[in-house]
Amino acid sequence: MNLFEIKGKVALVTGGNGGIGLAMAQGIASCGASIAIAGRNEEKSGPALASLRELGARCVFITGDVTKKAACQKLVADTVSEFGRLDILVNNAGTSIRKMPDEYTEDEWHHVLDTNLTSAFFCSQAAYEPMKRQGGGKMINIGSMMSLFGAPYATPYASSKGGIVQMTRALATAWAKDNIQVNAVLPGWIDTDLTRRAREQVPGLQQRVEDRTPAARWGRPPDMAGVAAFLASPASDFVTGAAIPVDGGYSIGM
Ligand code: NDP
Repeated sequence: MNLFEIKGKVALVTGGNGGIGLAMAQGIASCGASIAIAGRNEEKSGPALASLRELGARCVFITGDVTKKAACQKLVADTVSEFGRLDILVNNAGTSIRKMPDEYTEDEWHHVLDTNLTSAFFCSQAAYEPMKRQGGGKMINIGSMMSLFGAPYATPYASSKGGIVQMTRALATAWAKDNIQVNAVLPGWIDTDLTRRAREQVPGLQQRVEDRTPAARWGRPPDMAGVAAFLASPASDFVTGAAIPVDGGYSIGM
């Protein structure tokens, strides 16, 4: 018995065209699943698809802006029409706007919440019917260290990522009866486009993270592939509602 075998299964990864989403897509693809990666930027999708094909995966890029409920529904519908089913949903698309709390506009607040939290809810809602019909599924939501900690420059981001954990728990309790496991992953500080911008905007961040992380380094996107393979596969069939840090020990260090 191979606990990580998911050949014949289909995954949709939002924001799967780069960074953490692509690494998670690669982890899931390496266990045999077909992959739909979704995002807005077509240019980034070419190399992302090539890397998934190298792993032997059938894969497509689907364009969509997850801040719109109709687009979330379409991403799921397009995945099902392309591959005939949907077994694994990774709600990974995310963004941040770094400012002090008194400086955010209404649009900025909603943009971060819509991208990080509301999108995950509507994609999950859309994925529920096909997963239920098929007799089960796996939903993986991407939280953050900001699901646990606060930071002065991240009020909407931290609010959205705290919400991801509670949404995960609520959905896990609702859909356990349908054999759908819903879990969250809380990445530590990972070197991606998102955090490259953070390091430009937050003085001293690079060094502070290294100093506080027991593993004494920033994470790299491939560090996220294993947890995706675990949560997408039968190895995690009795794990639901969990929020798993993948952070080199950042959240337990002094
Ligand atoms: P990236 O900026 O590299 O990736 C973000 C992805 O989200 C992109 O592929 C982007 O695709 C997609 N995306 C953003 N907005 C939208 C939108 N409106 N519609 C569709 N897709 C969208 O960052 P990361 O890989 O670092 O981030 C991935 C996730 O991990 C995020 O949820 C982030 O909050 C979380 N995270 C990251 C950490 C880190 O240290 N890097 C730490 C903790 C959590 P496109 O540009 O094509 O739209």
